[in-house]
Amino acid sequence: MSGLATCDVCPRHCHLAPGALGACRARRNVDGAVVPEAYGRVTSLALDPVEKKPLARFHPGSYLLSVGGYGCNLACPFCQNHQISQAGEKDVAWRELSPEGLVALAEDARRRDPRVIGIAHTYNEPLVAWEYVADAARLARERGLVTVLVSNGCAELGVIDELAPLLDAANIDLKGFSPAFYEACGGAQGSLDAVRATVERLAAEPGCHLEVTTLVVPGKNDAEDEVDAIARWLAILPGDVVYHVTRYFPHWRMADVPATPVATVRRLADVARRHLAHVYVGNC
Ligand code: SF4
Repeated sequence: MSGLATCDVCPRHCHLAPGALGACRARRNVDGAVVPEAYGRVTSLALDPVEKKPLARFHPGSYLLSVGGYGCNLACPFCQNHQISQAGEKDVAWRELSPEGLVALAEDARRRDPRVIGIAHTYNEPLVAWEYVADAARLARERGLVTVLVSNGCAELGVIDELAPLLDAANIDLKGFSPAFYEACGGAQGSLDAVRATVERLAAEPGCHLEVTTLVVPGKNDAEDEVDAIARWLAILPGDVVYHVTRYFPHWRMADVPATPVATVRRLADVARRHLAHVYVGNC
């Protein structure tokens, strides 16, 4: 079919007919080119403590203007933000906020409270409209504000190569260490490899502080061997990667699966500490 276009942002590589929307609901084929339709479409805006991202070792005690839009290239059945991550433009209220407008809001927030140090792109999956992150990050840096990415990390390396030098910190959500779990999270083939490549690329970026988070879901990714393998891999990366092991709570399509026992989270954190100096537990 003429006018078909393929998106090269993530491993899903959506082949889109003219006018069609990608699986993430954020990118569309317009006149034969895949464009980030969700660029600058903001659904959520809040001042969050940096520890909430979570970032444990990046300017503790500071605050970030946290911004989210809609769309995601995964569909984790336990998603805490499914109202926006699984939404398209007609499913959720949004407003246009240019990169200039976003940076101006962050500067206003910093004037009111000097603990505000920058902007976090978070809540839904920022990489599905990564161009917005990049444009805002360039402006933020000019104004002395930091940029933080909170992401599933599931993107092609070309995207991460563009973004990495613009980031001051990132928290990448590593769902688990098996392709099967990524598939259960709605990931396309190659998703785990893509996330691993993202983590490796960001770890190698000198100006980007990196933390990684795994939400431990009972019976899905709570095997000691799996966390041990993750920690071993993180330990050989450049820098001193911080790792969070966090507790799952029933939500959305997994409302029937009970919360992770606190003891399990603490035990898995101890497993990770065999290899890593900085391991934190979350939601406990
Ligand atoms: S970012 Fe991924 S899910 Fe979205 S349109 Fe591109 S290939 Fe498809």
